[in-house]
Amino acid sequence: MQNPLKILYPDQCVACGGLVDGAGGLCAACWAGTPFIDGLVCDACGAPLLGEAAGARPQCDGCMAEHPPWAQGRSVMAYRDSGRRMVLGLKHSDRLDLVRPMASWMAARGAVLKSGDKVLVPVPLHWTRLLMRRFNQAALLAREVARIWGCDTVPDALIRTRRTRPQERMTKAERLENQAGAIRVNPARATRVAGSSVVLVDDVMTSGATLSVAARALKDAGAERVCVLTLARVVKEP
Ligand SMILES: [Zn+2]
Ligand SMILES: [Zn+2]
Repeated sequence: MQNPLKILYPDQCVACGGLVDGAGGLCAACWAGTPFIDGLVCDACGAPLLGEAAGARPQCDGCMAEHPPWAQGRSVMAYRDSGRRMVLGLKHSDRLDLVRPMASWMAARGAVLKSGDKVLVPVPLHWTRLLMRRFNQAALLAREVARIWGCDTVPDALIRTRRTRPQERMTKAERLENQAGAIRVNPARATRVAGSSVVLVDDVMTSGATLSVAARALKDAGAERVCVLTLARVVKEP
């Protein structure tokens, strides 16, 4: 019988192309060199926390001051070094071979979000960007995580009503302004969202502004609970 891991994972390291001796899509050196977020994290935004766990659901200072508009959040890795290179490889270089290993890391990291009957919803791209890139990386990740978890994904639950400006140099307030009203629940999927427990999926969390707008849209449409799962997130160095 064929080894099932051979089907799930490629034989080459997805980061360096070297041979992979174990499961997970990365060689031992790249695995060690990837800034995975493990250990204690903020239950709300998934940022790494220093020190010991304070209570069952520890939170970072930012989330204690202002809780994000979703219940719980997790990210697989910090958006820097090889973490950043892999995300950009998926986004801009058609590295679709990255989807399976990345989604398997997300499914494992986000296992705490899995309980109950979930619906996975990707953060949408505007159709003009979809034409340029040909695929929405968030939708590919959501579909694969849903397959691993054995739950549904609704790829068009959210739609972009207009194109937003690139956000690289914006503050969080400017990003929120830029995204305000830009993401809505697709009226054709409103019944799928209402009363559901949704895990919102994206490739990267930067300020969280896009995810906030998307989470609010889902809540406004009657989603019972919204959690956030991203492949990578910007982590402020202490
Ligand atoms: Zn490697
Ligand atoms: Zn937090």
